[in-house]
Amino acid sequence: MSLQRICILGSTGSIGVSTLDVIARHPDRYQVFALTAHTQIEKLAAQCSQFQPQVVVVGSADAADALRHLLAEKNLSQIQIQYGPEALCEVASSPECNSVMAAIVGAAGLPASLAAARAGKKVMLANKEALVMSGNLFMDAIRKSGAALLPIDSEHNAIFQCLPRHYDGQAEQHGVSKILLTASGGPFLHRDIATLTDVTPEQAIAHPNWVMGRKISIDSATMMNKGLEVIEAHWLFSAPADMIEVVIHPQSVIHSMVSYNDGSVLAQLGNPDMRTPIAYGLAYPERIASGVSPLDLVKVSKLNFEAPDFARFPCLSLAYQALKTGGSAPTILNASNEIAVQAFLDGKIGFRAIDQLIAACMDKIAVTPVTDLDGILAVDAEARAVAQTIVMQ
Ligand code: NAD
Ligand code: MG
Repeated sequence: MSLQRICILGSTGSIGVSTLDVIARHPDRYQVFALTAHTQIEKLAAQCSQFQPQVVVVGSADAADALRHLLAEKNLSQIQIQYGPEALCEVASSPECNSVMAAIVGAAGLPASLAAARAGKKVMLANKEALVMSGNLFMDAIRKSGAALLPIDSEHNAIFQCLPRHYDGQAEQHGVSKILLTASGGPFLHRDIATLTDVTPEQAIAHPNWVMGRKISIDSATMMNKGLEVIEAHWLFSAPADMIEVVIHPQSVIHSMVSYNDGSVLAQLGNPDMRTPIAYGLAYPERIASGVSPLDLVKVSKLNFEAPDFARFPCLSLAYQALKTGGSAPTILNASNEIAVQAFLDGKIGFRAIDQLIAACMDKIAVTPVTDLDGILAVDAEARAVAQTIVMQ
């Protein structure tokens, strides 16, 4: 067992905090090389006291100044402080670390996640938006650099665990017939559709089973999260859209399944706590304690399933549509969703306007082939601008 020197992109977020929780349980295995945070400087300073990273990256020069003062007070002035998007790429590809937890939320995480993939790091990928935007490019970078890619999203981590070891995407050869992606259905699974227009951000954020960042919580309420995950599964497991089926499972105990052509269905179960997939990613192919309590099936008692209602959740259809269209369509989907979610959180648009805005952007913006990072970022910027003008109308 060799020591893993880890860079945590987005250490102050929900995934970042859970990652540090697991790491703290195994100081013999893991050392923190870098922590990054956008604005939560005090939280980052507290993490610095506990984990003593070599470098930290924050969002701006002002944030860096504020952090410098906090670290000086804690006698931690030896920690290097950097700021800005380029510094994120630098720490993610630094020769001083061998593994990277990609846990920045949204498109902002793409350049650094891709930099880690290109540098051949072990990449633990939570930042699904990065893969949705860059699919081919990202997977190519992983293949070319020989990087190990460990999915952290609980569904994909479950699928990874249920597929044959070293699965190469040759579904038929391995007898794999379907990927069954489970979805809780979020807080509005059975709410009267007519009342969805009145939903508030607080109601939408209140997820029944998982405690997560704000953006992914809203994505779960619209089921765009599942849509992004369908695209994520496509790239991670080389699975065509019609091989990926979404199954509503409100208890979130089965994290996803793989169906084989002999009739077997393999599932991964556990309490809904991200420390399980994080621990799996950190220790793979070994298993380590994560702090998650054992699953009590008798207490759970029932596991329910139903088909997703595409009329209730138009975002799910939009995501399948973007995947089937290909090229820049998933980037347009993702960027317009990020703008719509922020506008909803800011009280500028209603809940149902989220899917309408994304659909309008997908109609308006021409789809182009995707070949490099600059091209993807240009599409992302264009889609954001179009989405913003719709928000302002
Ligand atoms: P979060 O909002 O709790 O945290 C986001 C982190 O990203 C923070 O550390 C923040 O400082 C950083 N960040 C935000 N904007 C940034 C920017 N512009 N530049 C640099 N850093 C920035 O989010 P989260 O819930 O931890 O989710 C992180 C990622 O993991 C998302 O892509 C999400 O979809 C994915 N994910 C999360 C969960 C979960 O349970 N929270 C589960 C599966 C996948
Ligand atoms: Mg998930």
